[in-house]
Amino acid sequence: MKPGPFIYTAPDSLEEALELLDEHGGEAKPLAGGQSLMPLLNMRFAQPAVLVDLNPVPGLDGIVQRDAQLEIGATVRQASFGASPLVREHIPAAATAVPHIGHFVTRNRGTVGGSLAHADARGELPLALVALEGSVRVASHRNGERMVSADELFVTHFTTSLSDEELLVSSIWPIADNDWHFAFEEFAQRHGDYALGMVCVGIRVSNGHVSDARVAVSAVTDRPVCLDDAGAALIGHAAVPDAAREAGAMAATAVDPHSDLHATARYRRHLTGALVERACLVVFEAAS
Ligand SMILES: Cc1cc2nc3c(=O)[nH]c(=O)nc-3n(C[C@H](O)[C@H](O)[C@H](O)COP(=O)(O)OP(=O)(O)OC[C@H]3O[C@@H](n4cnc5c(N)ncnc54)[C@H](O)[C@@H]3O)c2cc1C
Repeated sequence: MKPGPFIYTAPDSLEEALELLDEHGGEAKPLAGGQSLMPLLNMRFAQPAVLVDLNPVPGLDGIVQRDAQLEIGATVRQASFGASPLVREHIPAAATAVPHIGHFVTRNRGTVGGSLAHADARGELPLALVALEGSVRVASHRNGERMVSADELFVTHFTTSLSDEELLVSSIWPIADNDWHFAFEEFAQRHGDYALGMVCVGIRVSNGHVSDARVAVSAVTDRPVCLDDAGAALIGHAAVPDAAREAGAMAATAVDPHSDLHATARYRRHLTGALVERACLVVFEAAS
């Protein structure tokens, strides 16, 4: 298949990119790494009249540490993100998630901003951003900039709360203090396939006991979500295998996945529990 006709634009500033999106409204689409958009164009599932190529836009490809957060420009490639010493040191769970995203070649082109804006419920970076309580910086020609929390960004599968005229400029990843430990776990039938289940668990341990916890899951839900009950089940407990098992059981109960040709709902539910339990054991070990 070949894409329908479109006008290709290559703005050389952020302002110009925002003006183009404003001028063409819902008829225009930003082009980042093209790893999701180009297949959609080729299959004519998307037929935008105008493509606004973000790759020539200066200033969108930086990884910057500011106080207790990392700001990742929209066009930073997934591979560069995962290999960045700042990312590996300060948000290691996000770095751990990167090798699960597709393949070497797709990670070299695919961008962090594109992955977040695409909002695939099976996307690793959307889950990591929710688990780490991150946010995105968004800009539009008419309304300037605003911040959107990860929780507000992801509405459902392939849908964000951004309007057609808005561009995701960067993502903000808080750096947790040293008492926090995070683990990312997923299962796919083959490495590089979309995951059947994925989780990101974070715990804060003080004196051998869990004082705070986050259990986030995706791929079995229509967007990445924190399972508050599963997180709460860990708080106050000693960091021991029984607590991990209980959190896994609560997570399995909390999700309501559906069956498809890859796996049954029952399997996905069981998988979620097993992944949460495994991630808890990893963070308990890291905290000990
Ligand atoms: C074979 C294959 C396997 C894959 N496996 C996985 C996987 O396992 N996990 C996973 O998470 N992903 C996977 N992907 C998708 C890949 O990660 C894409 O790179 C990602 O989904 C989109 O990023 P992109 O930079 O390529 O964006 P593009 O494809 O260029 O754009 C995607 C969408 O986001 C919009 N967009 C892009 N940037 C912005 C922005 N800054 N602001 C607003 N809107 C924007 C575009 O208009 C488009 O609608 C796979 C892709 C392929 C081809």
